[in-house]
Amino acid sequence: MTRMSHGGPFHRFRFKRDHKWSGEHMSEYLDGEMPESARARIERHLAECEDCEGLLGNLRGIVGGLAALGRERRERRQGASVASAVAAGVRARIEEDDGRDA
Ligand SMILES: [Zn+2]
Repeated sequence: MTRMSHGGPFHRFRFKRDHKWSGEHMSEYLDGEMPESARARIERHLAECEDCEGLLGNLRGIVGGLAALGRERRERRQGASVASAVAAGVRARIEEDDGRDA
């Protein structure tokens, strides 16, 4: 891919503008709810901005984690919330510790 490597004033201006815009539209991009022209714009910026690339990676990790949680909950076929599942896990650990100490 071709990339403007000289950091002329116009390039810097466009970069800053796209940087702000990309941050605001990153979640739409991840959701795939973006027109093709906007997608091309964010991908062009991601190719030249490590910050936004890292942000996208973080968001992907969060979204992927939430999707995995959702799958787990569906597999168990329970209405229990994540919080109560965590609380149950903590209680089980505490009870194990009690058993060991007694
Ligand atoms: Zn950026």
